[in-house]
Amino acid sequence: TSFNDLGLAEPLLRALSTEGYTTPTPIQAKAIPPVLAGRDLIGIAQTGTGKTAAFSLPLLQRLAASDKRAAPKSMRALILTPTRELALQIADSLATYGRHLQFRHTVIFGGVGQEPQVRSVARGIDIVVATPGRLIDLMGQGHINVGSVETFILDEADRMLDMGFIHDVKRVVAKLPKERHTLFFSATMAGDVGKLAEGLLKDPVRVEV
Ligand code: AMP
Repeated sequence: TSFNDLGLAEPLLRALSTEGYTTPTPIQAKAIPPVLAGRDLIGIAQTGTGKTAAFSLPLLQRLAASDKRAAPKSMRALILTPTRELALQIADSLATYGRHLQFRHTVIFGGVGQEPQVRSVARGIDIVVATPGRLIDLMGQGHINVGSVETFILDEADRMLDMGFIHDVKRVVAKLPKERHTLFFSATMAGDVGKLAEGLLKDPVRVEV
């Protein structure tokens, strides 16, 4: 399989080629076509498998394809991840893969001043990558509204639960539109992770690597 066969558009293929990626990893080969088609997804994959590109590439393509620039201030995608490091890595990947596309993204995490984060959201943003605690804070203060999110991605759901973020995650989800595209990634689906997924996803494709 090549990235070309997966249905990715030319601006993304060009970015991948610049990065020197020649072959999709197994999670990318299995996840990208159904996500491009708009299906919800459970991706059972560890860090290091290429899962970030598996969700970032189809996300960027779908955002580019449906032009919603009439409402430039509304957030269109939310990626929740458990740690600041992961949030920064995901934001970096979005910038790399989306270098030939027009979109704005920002990163939101705790432990630093909130003002720059509030300002970047206020300027209008397409994709927000966030850790749950700070996101809840900013939502509570009225700085962020997730009511326009079309795509919701939960990354490392198992670690999210291990770190005690389940209530924060549920509070965020409660504010998301019911009609949305949802992608769920976890290294395992045992126990509470499986229950969480059931409440979030509609008729998901399940992909395991
Ligand atoms: P991840 O599992 O998303 O953290 O990705 C692990 C690493 O693999 C990252 O450094 C990516 O840049 C790299 N990577 C992802 N997909 C590919 C690919 N198809 N070919 C080569 N490297 C890749």
